[in-house]
Amino acid sequence: MESQLPFKRRFSFEFFPPKTENGMEKLREVRDTLARRKPDFFSVTYGAGGTTRERTLDTVFQLHDLGISTAPHLSCIGADRASITELLDQYKERGIQRIVALRGDLPSGVGVGAHGELRYANDLVALIRQHSGDHFQIEVAAYPETHPQASSAQADLLNFKKKVDAGATSAITQYFFNAESYFYFVDRCEKLGINLPIVPGIMPITNYSKLARFSEMCGAEIPRWIRKQLESYGDDLDSIGKFGTDVVTRMCEQLLKSGAPGLHFYTLNQAEPSLAIWDNLGLTDKIAF
Ligand code: FAD
Repeated sequence: MESQLPFKRRFSFEFFPPKTENGMEKLREVRDTLARRKPDFFSVTYGAGGTTRERTLDTVFQLHDLGISTAPHLSCIGADRASITELLDQYKERGIQRIVALRGDLPSGVGVGAHGELRYANDLVALIRQHSGDHFQIEVAAYPETHPQASSAQADLLNFKKKVDAGATSAITQYFFNAESYFYFVDRCEKLGINLPIVPGIMPITNYSKLARFSEMCGAEIPRWIRKQLESYGDDLDSIGKFGTDVVTRMCEQLLKSGAPGLHFYTLNQAEPSLAIWDNLGLTDKIAF
């Protein structure tokens, strides 16, 4: 893989919008802890089919107004253009400069006929550029291990290129535990002339059964040797956490040494698991690699 280091490295943390005031209070503490590491930005997810529209908006503004630039995720499936452009205007007005643009998935139980006016993420990227010009930096999703609904790895890659051609500025990957899949993906992108930072999405390992279920759904592979080790710990969360931190730290080291242009942590609204990796990597001064 050619190093992606001509791009400035950036480090970010992702949250989901809490459902309760208690959850929001906890997130504020997590945010304060993570903000001390001076990440480049936070991001806040958007529920399937827009189910968290107001909560995402509220969480983004609460985080953004307190100093760290915050990027809302925005998905287009099931939405109409007018509701999306209204959101874009609200974000622009409040000084938001970065958006994570996604197709998203329909909530379970909603028929596939309910796609809405924009079918794929490349349609959303095009709408954002058409409506807001160059105001937003647009992040899109990338899948080193191939999106689960893609007809083939090559088709998925060409679909990824459509988002880039529509105006994306950078990409964040689905999480993976096999650095080789990322290096291979970046190589294939380079061969297609895709030239934008592709930042690895990093999932700390804290709970094996939840991780296994989620990975099955989103098409992320847990290599056998990691699975076997995690299974052997049963309910011993302490050992799972220690092993997980070690494995993910090593992978991040490998990624950064080979020129990955930063890391994006899926925090699941917990500070400690991501911080343990961050601190192991010595990222506080961000020049360790
Ligand atoms: P797309 O890029 O549109 O791809 C979806 C599928 O359609 C792929 O199989 C692709 O190959 C195919 N495809 C794409 N374009 C075309 C085309 N023009 N013609 C034909 N086929 C096409 N989900 C949420 O609900 N909320 C979130 O906040 C959220 N945040 C995420 C953040 C990151 C970094 C990542 C990696 C994923 C996130 N997701 C989120 C999950 C994401 O919404 C799902 O993976 C979803 O199934 C695909 O979204 P996408 O933007 O990658 O879709």
